[in-house]
Amino acid sequence: MDKLKLGVFELTSCGGCALNILFLYERLFDILEFYDIAEFHMATSQRGREKLDVALVTGSVSTQRDLEVVKDARNRAEYLIALGTCATHGGVQGSIEGSVKEGLRKIYGDMKGPSKVLEPRAVVEHVPVDFAIPGCPYDKDEVFQVLMDIARGVEPVTKDYPVCLECKLNEYECVLLKRGVPCLGPVTLGGCNAKCPSIGLGCIGCRGLVPDPNIPGLVEVLKNIIPEEDIVRKLKTFVRW
Ligand code: SF4
Ligand code: SF4
Repeated sequence: MDKLKLGVFELTSCGGCALNILFLYERLFDILEFYDIAEFHMATSQRGREKLDVALVTGSVSTQRDLEVVKDARNRAEYLIALGTCATHGGVQGSIEGSVKEGLRKIYGDMKGPSKVLEPRAVVEHVPVDFAIPGCPYDKDEVFQVLMDIARGVEPVTKDYPVCLECKLNEYECVLLKRGVPCLGPVTLGGCNAKCPSIGLGCIGCRGLVPDPNIPGLVEVLKNIIPEEDIVRKLKTFVRW
């Protein structure tokens, strides 16, 4: 069986989502049974111009170079996955209020920066994507499963339920209602297996919002625990809205 060609592309980000692929450790070898890595800046100096079966794109589109890279990935790849919250929602840099360009102009004047800054935006706002895996960083089990599904010709399953559901399935005690810990689980996309509540921490919303989130309902509950302005700040940590 011919192996599939995989490319990993890194746009503006902390680099954590690209590095997280290497942290699959021995399971990376299972992936390499099905894929040849054609491009992965962090892991190989190999660069090609060939067509790709799958492209994983991490980071947000924040510079002209990012825009060129993401368009190139889209043109070359059959199946493009936005990987990590920077790519799916814009991430921390995409949630900045006001114009980044304006801010830079105030500090540096009209001097043109070498990277030609754009307003940071999610990959999904610039090119069509076939699948999105949020998380800061994403859950490694999820990317492993998605790559294996694609290799076997199975369409991966999109998760559209909240973190709360995963707490219930795991029978974790509700940190919000039982312990008074601020938690964004009710409005945050699940898929991390309720990682933070599993160790007694509140979810800080790193996977972005569920479709049709009941934000007023959550604010009513959180108002009893933290000031309203902190709730708004918390909700805007990873996503712009
Ligand atoms: S989503 Fe988080 S971990 Fe991933 S690249 Fe962005 S900031 Fe880093
Ligand atoms: S519980 Fe929330 S903050 Fe923690 S990993 Fe999951 S989505 Fe991210």
